[in-house]
Amino acid sequence: MSNRTLAILKPDCVQKNLIGEVITKITGAGFKIISMKMVHLNEKSAGGFYEVHKERPFFNDLIKYMTSGPCVPIALEKENAVEDFRKLIGATDPAKAEEGTIRKLYADSIEANIVHGSDSDENAKMEILHFFSRKELLENHG
Ligand code: AMP
Repeated sequence: MSNRTLAILKPDCVQKNLIGEVITKITGAGFKIISMKMVHLNEKSAGGFYEVHKERPFFNDLIKYMTSGPCVPIALEKENAVEDFRKLIGATDPAKAEEGTIRKLYADSIEANIVHGSDSDENAKMEILHFFSRKELLENHG
């Protein structure tokens, strides 16, 4: 799956009615949508997804935010997907994100930063399987 990455349109993206605009940016940059759904995460699922940040001071707020409303996980495919997607979304803190990136355009803060992108091929694989079954991925992608 080295040509795949997981995006999540986070609750602030959904709340601000930006799903369409953000997906247009993503597909316009050459990413193909393999699978996509809208889900309202509970604490267990959000906590599992962000397990690596469990000890961080922002963990509780992050879980509160990620469970505050529905989000839209999307499995994406493109050559060099992980790196290219991180370039497209920009730095975690929108104040530090480059002009034209999704976070620079739409995000309000380091926490409410509109979109998630996997940070390595290994994590992309695990994160995609957090939201999509192998069966779903195969059915949608032949
Ligand atoms: P990451 O795994 O790097 O995407 O980090 C997970 C998410 O945690 C980020 O996308 C932000 O929503 C949030 N986050 C990361 N760093 C901070 C921070 N210093 N303060 C608050 N939220 C943060």
